[in-house]
Amino acid sequence: MTAAALSELVDLERIIELGARHLDVRVIREVNVLDRRFPIHAITLGNPSPAVPAVGFFGGIHGLERIGAEVVIAYLGSLVTRLQWDATLHRQLESVRLVFMPLVNPGGMWLGTRANPNGVDLMRNAPVEGTGGVPYLLGGQRISARLPWYRGPVDAPMEAENLAVCQLVEEELLARDFSIALDCHSGFGIHDRIWFPYAHTVKPIAHLPEIHALRAIFDSTHPNHRYIFEPQSRQYLTHGDLWDHLYQRACAEPGRTFLPLTLELGSWLWIKKNPRQLFSRRGMFNPLVEHRRQRVLRRQMAWLDFLTRAVCSHARWIPSEALRQDHLTRALDLWYGGPKP
Ligand SMILES: [Zn+2]
Repeated sequence: MTAAALSELVDLERIIELGARHLDVRVIREVNVLDRRFPIHAITLGNPSPAVPAVGFFGGIHGLERIGAEVVIAYLGSLVTRLQWDATLHRQLESVRLVFMPLVNPGGMWLGTRANPNGVDLMRNAPVEGTGGVPYLLGGQRISARLPWYRGPVDAPMEAENLAVCQLVEEELLARDFSIALDCHSGFGIHDRIWFPYAHTVKPIAHLPEIHALRAIFDSTHPNHRYIFEPQSRQYLTHGDLWDHLYQRACAEPGRTFLPLTLELGSWLWIKKNPRQLFSRRGMFNPLVEHRRQRVLRRQMAWLDFLTRAVCSHARWIPSEALRQDHLTRALDLWYGGPKP
């Protein structure tokens, strides 16, 4: 089997070729698995000026959750196709930077593991310690790479895949005053969820009013959407969350807004409709029936495109100082059980 046998990578490279005229493509790092080498691609398009806002789309951090990578690749594919005929998209790209890293953990995907080839769970590997109530094992452990949710050795640098994400986020997203990241996963629950930080503590983030305002425009624009918007801490706490880490890095610069979101596609419904999936490792995290897979991909496009528009037009919906308090009160009420002292 060659590296080209990773079908998501084949799809991505085909799209890169098709959009070559409009895309900046770099291989940020390469990862070795046995005798194979896989690239971690970063693809950017739109206005490179640091004066415009940016949105980043990430997928494939957990190698088993292929549908997350497919969602990001499908969106990039649709943009590349539209660039051939859609003048409004060309105008939109004058005022926004789009950033893609659809296959963060190609080695894990090739091996069919959640972790990277070193056995490290990339979502437990950042230098962030959970506070209180982190579940045993699931929240991240340093006992063994043979067990799931392994954080990596204590005091070691982050894994190459995470360093690639950090580099791209720092260069392309944190270099700007306003940016959003969306990281696409699957496997938790029946509903599709949109999670925002924190994962390491039940405390709210400083940009809770901005998150609430984003949700408000999404609710009003797509009134029949079925996503559950919530802080990840409402479901479970973890050590080592990469987006908590990057959010905290972003907050070191006053006046900068970076909103990292996670799309967690609910896979349990696919299993309920097709219980045989329970017996397949792939089936626990991905829709196996083709029409269901297509429906998942189709449904998510509106959400990804909404984010691009929201980033482009953030000046029109980011709450003013006067409105922040109102959003904060409502957000605390909605997600944190009322006002906090
Ligand atoms: Zn995941």
